[in-house]
Amino acid sequence: MARVFNFSAGPAVLPEPVLKNAAAEMLDCNGSGMSVMEMSHRSKDFEAIINGAEEHLRKLMNIPPNYKVLFLQGGASSQFAMVPLNLLGKNGKADFLNTGTWSKKAISEAKRYGKANVVATSEDKNFSYIPKVAKDKFDPQASYVHITSNNTIEGTKYSVFPDTGAVPLVADMSSNILSEAMDVTKFGLIYAGAQKNIGPAGVCVVIIREDLIGKALDITPTMFNYDTHAKEKSLYNTPPTYGIYIAKLVFEWMLEKGGVPAIEKINREKAKMLYDFIDNSSLFKGTAAKEDRSIMNVPFTLPTDELTENCLKEAKQNGLVQLKGHRSVGGMRASIYNAMPFEGVKKLVDFLKKFETANK
Ligand SMILES: *Cc1c(COP(=O)(O)O)cnc(C)c1O
Repeated sequence: MARVFNFSAGPAVLPEPVLKNAAAEMLDCNGSGMSVMEMSHRSKDFEAIINGAEEHLRKLMNIPPNYKVLFLQGGASSQFAMVPLNLLGKNGKADFLNTGTWSKKAISEAKRYGKANVVATSEDKNFSYIPKVAKDKFDPQASYVHITSNNTIEGTKYSVFPDTGAVPLVADMSSNILSEAMDVTKFGLIYAGAQKNIGPAGVCVVIIREDLIGKALDITPTMFNYDTHAKEKSLYNTPPTYGIYIAKLVFEWMLEKGGVPAIEKINREKAKMLYDFIDNSSLFKGTAAKEDRSIMNVPFTLPTDELTENCLKEAKQNGLVQLKGHRSVGGMRASIYNAMPFEGVKKLVDFLKKFETANK
């Protein structure tokens, strides 16, 4: 069976060379005579894999030495609790920007452990834009400010990150980490579930500035304490070994392609091609404010549910799958992560054009 172009929001498409490489190493990884899944996480072979993954990520994101890189489990959703448990300590309160479904979840979880103050929200317009917040709107006494850098469901992203002064900025980057150049030094903590731009579900990457480690609330479970994992280099317990291995292969693939700047260039071209079509279409309509549009997740709607159903069905017949929009936005959504080839987006646009002509 031929591979399809998979526009899933997550778990999402992985680079084909990575899958082929993993397949070739399935029974015997690097002369060990075994699969990565069968290796001890304390073995030399696995040590090389996890160290390699960290090294590559540091290179790709230009992560300074005073930041730890952790490979954790529990998805980004566990970070909704782990961040407040570890960072609220200072003053027991944090500021949040509410820009979508995932922000809301982060806020409600933080409320269990302290005061979560919503500084701005775009809920008035179904989260279709990113509120601009001046520096003086943030509480200088807050322990941190939390944002969702890319709103996977609503298809928006920050083009400029808010200036929070001395208050550490924490970002859920699950759906746009490694998609464009980001200055890590602007953040106290970055976290991202792997299943969008990094690898398979089961790994969650945390990049944390060292001075923010070691201040967890007393009630923090050992496994939810960054200090536990920082001290043990993500090997306190058995980490998600196979996921980390695939992440390493993805990072290698990215480095081969020229790193984040080269990938960002292609991402912008892919997004532009799709948005240009949608903006000029009489049938399809984008749902996010132009200046805040995501280059990873592109939601759009059709005039009727029937047309949407037909479009999804015909797309599938053409090898273009997982294009159904999230129920909160409706319509369709094309997630065009790093691993989605340019040709995939080209084929999608060509298909949508044909569909538009046939349904005028
Ligand atoms: C997918 C996603 C999550 C949830 O990730 P899990 O790994 O399923 O917990 C959280 N935040 C954002 C921005 C996401 O895209």
